[in-house]
Amino acid sequence: MESTKLHAAILSSPGMGHLVPVLELGKRLATHHGLEVTILVVTTHSSPAESQLLDPSTAPKHLRILQLPPVDISSLVNPDTKIVTLLAIIMRQARPSLRSALCAMEHRPAMFIVDLFGSEAFEIANEFNMSKYVFVTSTAWFTALTIYCHVLDKEVEGEYVDQNEPLSLPGCKPVRPEDVVDPMLDRTNQDYYEYMRIGVEYSLSDGILMNTWEDLEGTSLKALRDHKIMRSIVKVPVYPIGPLTKPVEPAGPNSELLEWLDKQPSESVIYVSFGSGGTLSAEQTIELAWGLELSQQRFVWVLRPPIEGHGGSSFFTSGSGPDGTPDCLPDGFLIYVSFGSGGTLSAEQTIELVWGLELSQQRFVWVLRPPIEGHGGSSFFTSGSGPDGTPDCLPDGFLTRTHNVGVVVPLWAPQTPDCLPDGFLTRTHNVGVVVPLWAPQVKILSHPSVGGFLSHCGWNSTLESVSNGVPMIAWPLYAEQRMNATMLEEELGVAVKPKVLPTKKVVRREEIEEMVTIVMESNKHGRKEMKERAKELKNSGKNALSKGGSSYKSMCEVINKDCQLRLESHKLQALQQ
Ligand code: UDP
Repeated sequence: MESTKLHAAILSSPGMGHLVPVLELGKRLATHHGLEVTILVVTTHSSPAESQLLDPSTAPKHLRILQLPPVDISSLVNPDTKIVTLLAIIMRQARPSLRSALCAMEHRPAMFIVDLFGSEAFEIANEFNMSKYVFVTSTAWFTALTIYCHVLDKEVEGEYVDQNEPLSLPGCKPVRPEDVVDPMLDRTNQDYYEYMRIGVEYSLSDGILMNTWEDLEGTSLKALRDHKIMRSIVKVPVYPIGPLTKPVEPAGPNSELLEWLDKQPSESVIYVSFGSGGTLSAEQTIELAWGLELSQQRFVWVLRPPIEGHGGSSFFTSGSGPDGTPDCLPDGFLIYVSFGSGGTLSAEQTIELVWGLELSQQRFVWVLRPPIEGHGGSSFFTSGSGPDGTPDCLPDGFLTRTHNVGVVVPLWAPQTPDCLPDGFLTRTHNVGVVVPLWAPQVKILSHPSVGGFLSHCGWNSTLESVSNGVPMIAWPLYAEQRMNATMLEEELGVAVKPKVLPTKKVVRREEIEEMVTIVMESNKHGRKEMKERAKELKNSGKNALSKGGSSYKSMCEVINKDCQLRLESHKLQALQQ
């Protein structure tokens, strides 16, 4: 690396939702602002989707991706450990390897940026005399709540969800009790304390970067900067630098899906997906299927096997991305055999794999796709499988012999899987496509045939929708998504929300049908305005990022201020010598 450039290190916590915006920040710093950038990625295991994202060959010049050794947290967590605590533990355990990685760098970074879970690494930034920034990969409103939470802790008695009045946030829209972020749902849980600690640590940085922009969140940004009470707590400058979103995915195994989209009329398809970890209950999955079918609209649905209860996050417990072990199974219970969304084996290899599994006498779940000739490859959408008896491609009697230890899941089968209403795929095959587990989301959202997005409102998904001018059905599940959904519907006017919270009650098919119709049909009320608003936001986001735009300038400000600080500290050092 050239030593003349300003070198920034960015620390990313695990999970697609964090990696995506961190990578985009790194790319922008390297390509638009002339910095050397090293992204330090903390992982436990990475899903194929994450590995694809982290492929160094796709990184631009002057951007280096360094995966820190996976951390082992097995002795520090239990099945009840919640997500913020889990991430806090992972990031804590990663500190020694972070320190070693920084030590080993010839050209030491001058600037250290952590994502929303990395603030405990500030002590390392101090050791290395680096300036330190937090990159909150979410909204300014969420940032305000996080930073203000320790004040609410003193002011509010009892659980936040049980309050009769909205929680006031100085200068910002108040937060409804039912919309509070997940770690604020139980004030006795460690998650709550970790979340409060994180909020306090943000103010120990030299500045807070956020994946938002001035026109999107003017009120909350003004509050963070100017409101007397808020200012006295935030203490450091805030920099809206978004919308940073994942670029369109490279061509992959889903080309049949895109060919199908190519054949659909403009803005006629609703895309349904719940992020990298969202799942629904079995009952909700059935209602959603009926809602889609009754609406008679075209759809692409990324289907994940349902879980019990009202649904929520399967983050980390199910592999997020195409190859994860299903949520319903305990870790290490079995071996999960799958070849992503499009991989197939040859007939000979399939037989060998079958015998290998049987001989191992281990429990397994195998996502079977019929073999193709030769050495395997991609067969997405062209194949079907899923027999009642042992299929032709497996050795005779295999299913009978292994029925106590193994399950073969014909997930990719043209026949309707058990979790959907009988005959659903047959009845909807002209209008809809069900994609198992994972889809190239940005490619879909940027396709001209897509006119709506039923989303769990993860902030990346939200930005990807808004940046493509696509209005939404806001279906929040976990984390800060209830706040995002409220903002999308009430402040930005680009979404409709179910009347009940999907994590509390089942959203019935009639309501789903109605919401889909509202978002997709221009002759029904709501849609036109939402559509226009979404297009306006698309343009305003684009302008914010363009040279001279508010987010571009904000990023320049961070860099200039940092260079200035460094210059002054060098001068001071020289004077002292
Ligand atoms: N994603 C995708 N295909 C899928 C599901 C998700 O490419 O089938 C990507 C999506 O484009 C987004 C990220 O995964 O960039 C999910 O991030 P988000 O913040 O929306 O939600 P999270 O997964 O963190 O809950």
